[in-house]
This record gives sequence, C-alpha cells and structure tokens, in this order.
Amino acid sequence: MEKKKLLIKNAKAIVSCDEKNHVYLNSDMLIEGEKILEIGHNIVCEDAEVLDASDKFVYPGLVNTHHHFFQTFVRNLITIDYPNMHVVEWLDKIYQIFQKIDSDVIYYSSLTAMADLVKHGCTTAFDHQYCFTVHTKKEPVDRQMEAAAQIGIRYHAGRGTNTLPRSEGSTMPDDMLETTEEFIADTRRLIDKYHCTDPFSMRQIVIAPCQPVNCYKDTFIESVKLAKETGARLHTHLGEGENEIMMNRWGIRTVDWLKEVGFLGENTWFAHCWELTDEEYRILGAHGAGISHCPSPAILGGFPILPMKSLNDYGVTLSIGCDGSATNDGSNLLDSIRTAYLMQCYNSKARGGGISAYEILKQATVGGAKTLGRSDIGSLEPGKAADLFMLDTGTLEMAGALHDPCNIIGRVGLTGNVDLTMINGKIVYQNGKLVNVDERRLAAEGEAVCERVLRNTCDAFHNLF
Ligand SMILES: [Zn+2]
Repeated sequence: MEKKKLLIKNAKAIVSCDEKNHVYLNSDMLIEGEKILEIGHNIVCEDAEVLDASDKFVYPGLVNTHHHFFQTFVRNLITIDYPNMHVVEWLDKIYQIFQKIDSDVIYYSSLTAMADLVKHGCTTAFDHQYCFTVHTKKEPVDRQMEAAAQIGIRYHAGRGTNTLPRSEGSTMPDDMLETTEEFIADTRRLIDKYHCTDPFSMRQIVIAPCQPVNCYKDTFIESVKLAKETGARLHTHLGEGENEIMMNRWGIRTVDWLKEVGFLGENTWFAHCWELTDEEYRILGAHGAGISHCPSPAILGGFPILPMKSLNDYGVTLSIGCDGSATNDGSNLLDSIRTAYLMQCYNSKARGGGISAYEILKQATVGGAKTLGRSDIGSLEPGKAADLFMLDTGTLEMAGALHDPCNIIGRVGLTGNVDLTMINGKIVYQNGKLVNVDERRLAAEGEAVCERVLRNTCDAFHNLF
C-alpha cells in the first residue's frame, strides 16, 4: 500500500540538529509515511497533503531519558523541596503513598505525563517504572504501553524493581518488593512482547533496576546477563547521595560497584550522577556510558550542578530528563532545557566555560536518541523518522527574538505548549488539542481515580506535614 505523503511548506526555519548543525531557512520538508524524504527549497510533490509552516520554527522531537510517570498523581503534594527534610525522610513519607497505587493509577498518571510531554514537544519518552505493588501486580508496563499507543507517543519502558527488604537496609516498604527471579522473568516476558528494534519502532524495553542501594547485587548481575542475551539496554539511578551507604555496605563507591558487576558500558545510562568525582565521570566516559541530566530535581533538592562541559570532554553521552513528578512537578522538557541552560550559566564561571542553549537542545534531541541506542530519531534528516515539533513565531512574545532559532528555547525560555507535535509522520498535537484522545474525558477519569485510590483512602496523603 502506498504511504501517505505530507509536505511541510515554507517553514521559517528548520533546525535540523544534524552533525553539521544545518538550519534551513524558508524551506520545505517532504515526509512519506513515518520518514523524512527530503528537506530543501521549493519541493514539489503533487500527491502530498500540504501543511503551511510559514510562521513556524521546526525542531526535532525531544527525547526524555528519565521519568517516573506513576508519580504524576503526587504532584503539588510533597516534593523534595521541603526545607530541612532529608531525602530518606522524604522517601519514608512518599512510599506510604506509592504502596497504595494500583494499575488504574499507573494508566491514568502515565496518560497525564505523556500528554504533558507531547504538548511540550517531546516525541520519545523513556519511563523508569519501578512501582510494582500488591495492587498493580505485574501490570504497570502493559498499562503504560496501552496509554502510549492511545496518545501516539514513542515509548521506551524501563522495567524497574527493588529487591532488598527494609530489614536489610533498603528504604522500600515490603509491599513494593520483588525477588530477582520475579523481576527477570517478567522483564523477559515484556521484552518478548514489546521490545522492537526495527527502524521507527514505537516501543522498546529497558532493563532498569531502581537503584543499587535498594537491590541485591544479584539483581544487577542478572540484569547484565539479560541485557547481553536480549540486546535490551540498561538504566539505573546513580550519584544521588547513596555513596556513603554503598561504602558502608560494600566498602566501595557506587561507580566501582557498578563496574564490578558489569553494569557499565555503551548500552548503559544513569540518572542524575550529582555526587560523582571527576575521576568517576572519566570512567563513565571511557566506558561509553550516558547520563540523563534532570535539572529541576537538582535544584529542588539542592544537589550540585552537573559539570556538563567536563562531561563532554570526558566523552559522556549527555541527555535531558524531567525525572519523576515527585521530584519535579511537571513533565515539560522545554522547561528542563531552560533550567539546564541557566544552571550551566551559573556553573560556567567556576568550571571554565559554559554550554550554549543550543548545545542543551542537542542533548535533548540527538543526545537522547544516542542514549536510547537509536539512529533513526533525534535529528531532522532524510531517512530519519518524522518526529518534530513546531513553534509559532507569529505571537507577540516571540517578536524581536527571532534572530537565532537554535538558541531561542533555552535563552528566551519558551516553555509553553508548542504549536504542533508530530511522531512517525502523524500529528498527535495541534491547535491546542491532543489529536488521538478525548482529553477532558480522560482528565476527569484520571482525577476520579486519584480521588478514589489515593486522596480518599490513603491516610499518608493527609498526614504529610
Ligand atoms: Zn528518578
């Protein structure tokens, strides 16, 4: 069957984020099915539907490399910004709520996060799902796949877990624990069912034990074995204040521990990495590993600012993440780009040179694609997926700032809803509307689930402060 053609006509600027940093002015883009055929001036294609983009800046779709969708229903409730609250204290409070979560909460909170992401230009989302309770059973990733298909977002699901009980030093309630065997068996099931590495694939699975301090060593060792066997990638949290516990427990810091268990390589990326030494950053770079920089939680939690310039020099693959809504109340990657940019400006005097807003946009696009092991997304080039978003330059707040489409997002702070989002050649958000779903109905259903499962029945919800 012939694939549908779409001609984006006369875009004011197409910021490709390709290797040569091409910016096409007053140009067209021809799309066939899910992929870009051509970018250039005056493209003619008689059987293509035409989309006028004469007032638009066009960018590659953003790639989010760290999140916890299920936390979206505790937004605006308890974040790590509370003064004088230690992270462990905060975890104790928040886990009392998390253990009540059922698979309806997973489904609706995922829809909520995905909608927020899409409205702000994200086309590929990774989620680190480790909320497996007695109520959710093994359903969370399946429910998220359902939600992603409805919204039309490209989705990489991190199958997380926690295996170490509280009695042996973790922060996990018993109701949220699994055994390593359960985890590996269910991850294998998910890989068999969903993991597709074909070009333009809409879904993949990542093996993602939650964090070294809350798992047995075996969980990480078995994860590495499964990754070797299946080709799925590896992800976990690193450098978020756990080094002291790891030193006490194992006599070594987390990076050395990960190296020892083999959880470190080109197929691996880590969230945060706030509390690493320069030597540890060098080790990550030498092994070809990546870091998902989540700027908002770094600020809310008062963590150190990542030395991005040095990380680039060490060869670490950098990408951008929102992080879960318990540590960042929004799922807005444009906001994360802006925040990351401001943080690097603040850092630049001390660390010798800053990072431009455009470089951070590239981390959120090509950097994210590389992190997820994908060569078919991340930049706008012939042969790649038609994943993009558009900004309307005809608005008053854009007037006088259009000189530089590459840097405008981070520098001006364009963090509102985009004009259009397209994934695999299909428009999923346009004119303020999610194209594939009835947003108001889903929002009302989601709010009712939050009320029923969390607000009305969970004492912890009301005894937080
Ligand atoms: Zn996280």
